[in-house]
Amino acid sequence: MFTPINILIIYTGGTIGMVKDKVTGSLHPLNGKELYEQIPILGKFDYHIDFHSFDPLLDSSNMNPKHWVDLANVIEENYEEYDGFVVLHGSDTMAYTASAMSFMLENLNKPVIFTGSQLPLGMIRSDGRENLVTAIEISAAREEETPVVPEVAVYFENKLLRGNRTSKFNAEHFSAFMSGNYPPLAEVGVHIKFNYGAILKPNFKSLKVHKELDNNITIIKLFPGISNESVMAQLSIPGLRAVILETYGSGNAMTDKCFLEAIGTAIKKGILVLNVTQCKLGSVEMGKYLTSRELGEMGVISGKDITTESAVAKLMYLLGTGLGMEEVKKLMAYSLRGELTSS
Ligand code: ASP
Repeated sequence: MFTPINILIIYTGGTIGMVKDKVTGSLHPLNGKELYEQIPILGKFDYHIDFHSFDPLLDSSNMNPKHWVDLANVIEENYEEYDGFVVLHGSDTMAYTASAMSFMLENLNKPVIFTGSQLPLGMIRSDGRENLVTAIEISAAREEETPVVPEVAVYFENKLLRGNRTSKFNAEHFSAFMSGNYPPLAEVGVHIKFNYGAILKPNFKSLKVHKELDNNITIIKLFPGISNESVMAQLSIPGLRAVILETYGSGNAMTDKCFLEAIGTAIKKGILVLNVTQCKLGSVEMGKYLTSRELGEMGVISGKDITTESAVAKLMYLLGTGLGMEEVKKLMAYSLRGELTSS
């Protein structure tokens, strides 16, 4: 007997879902019925496709960890019934939400494919149609009864990227996302060419959803001339548990005594300081230059080649697990979901 593949499209908001009102011509968010009107080709898939909409819909700039939990709940509640999930999401914070899902959904063995668009579906030149159709195709792809992409990924403009390796780097081009330190999971032209060696393997364990997220973290982005007052103000945030120090190049920072003392004091107080480079390609290598050696000696942790988006999500997830700080520090150095290259 033929059992169709079941796909759930979860629409959280963002540009992609905006369609034109037939009477007024103004853009409004789409509903399940309009999805088929906009993309009639969806009716040609052999898959059974359902549509779940967030209420209210969100511009992704308004997304926060509570919405990540809402999304994880929808996936958890529907996990057994569906073979794959397509998440329609605004592009602005897609890299953060995709990173968060990768950590929150432990033992994920089904595809969760994020997509969106730069132009609304309701516009003639929209990139949303192709993005959505291919995201559905990828979420349904199976070989020997096993999903080809059993992980959280972002599909945008011909490329499938690991979710927790992505950053939005272009506010205008259809090709809006990059994954500087990890190859695409698939490239799409006439064929969908999966990069099998780069895709996580399923572990066939039961899904475990982590919903406790601790947002007592901050990001200190270095720039020439950053004042000690500014650094100190961030380090004295009440309840602060972790800092992402966005450094230059391979993890370098100024060797100014006051700055180093402030970081050292924070570490002594039990605050985790993670060194993440401002560069979109390449890795932190603490000790390569004098300007990062002292950070390492003081106990700053190397973020290696993790993105800031992924570091934010990973810290919130790990701090929310209730693990002790030493354990959290250890886990920050290891790849949990393919988010960094561990040597
Ligand atoms: N501001 C929109 C959002 O992130 C942009 C987009 O959808 O691409 O929700």
